[in-house]
Amino acid sequence: MPDAAMHWIFGRKVMEEIPWIRSPEVFSFALTGGDDWALYGFPLLRKSRNGRAEEMHTRKTGLFLRTLEAETELRDYWAGFVCHYVLDSLCHPYISAHAGVYDGTEETRMYRGGHTAWERALDRWILREEGIPGRHPVSDMVRSRLPEAFREPLDRVYRKVYGWENAWRDLNRARQGLTFFLWCVEDPHHILRTLTEPMTHPTLRALLYSRDAVGDRDLLNLSHGAWIHPWTGEEHRESFPELMEMSLRTAREMILGREEIGNRSYLTGLEIGDRRNEHPMRQGKSLPEEAAGSQEVRISGNV
Ligand SMILES: [Zn+2]
Repeated sequence: MPDAAMHWIFGRKVMEEIPWIRSPEVFSFALTGGDDWALYGFPLLRKSRNGRAEEMHTRKTGLFLRTLEAETELRDYWAGFVCHYVLDSLCHPYISAHAGVYDGTEETRMYRGGHTAWERALDRWILREEGIPGRHPVSDMVRSRLPEAFREPLDRVYRKVYGWENAWRDLNRARQGLTFFLWCVEDPHHILRTLTEPMTHPTLRALLYSRDAVGDRDLLNLSHGAWIHPWTGEEHRESFPELMEMSLRTAREMILGREEIGNRSYLTGLEIGDRRNEHPMRQGKSLPEEAAGSQEVRISGNV
């Protein structure tokens, strides 16, 4: 999925077109969507809530958003969450098409780390594009806390849809973990980059904002080359900025009630229940084996 800076900057652009947002802080908190859960407890070894991030991306997505929407106090949180939903579901297939989909098998091993590397590269691009300064711009964006007033309605929604208790408390904890994790991997002085130079694991190497693991590939597809949606097999030619533009329009229309939210997977953009969700293609047209191989070299080489 797109990463933290991309979601935040995208969401703030959508927010400019929504006249009724009362709390930009609460709206912004929701822009990371269900991604927070993946960092619950970081860096402590607290009991993980890892499965929750995936669950929120692939199960009951429409029901969750509709239940949130019905809680009037949570309108701003709902609107921020819709932004995450739209950007993930429209842009995640682009990243997967270019970086490949690693599913733990030997045949897809060449794609390890590619997804994270692309996400980081796109984050670096948007930060540059928007001229956002600072040594820790990404962790500064996400550093926030949900006010106490939201505890009850938020707990109610997460309990009702997913059966999880104390979501407000856990989300605030998860956010601390996410903020600290991003603060570390931003690595502005290249300390982690130097320390991890001897390590070859591609996923580990791709984590750092300070390391460009994608290199000079056409990150944004400004050449409008063909890429294959890994779950539908359809050919696309959109550039990444065009997909963002499309996402912006879609998010605005959904939040203003002019477009159906549906029940899509955040990962594939397809309706949940569509069997194509389960079978990503192992190789996109725009990512032939040589290119995937050279990407692996880039990721594990001295980049
Ligand atoms: Zn996500």
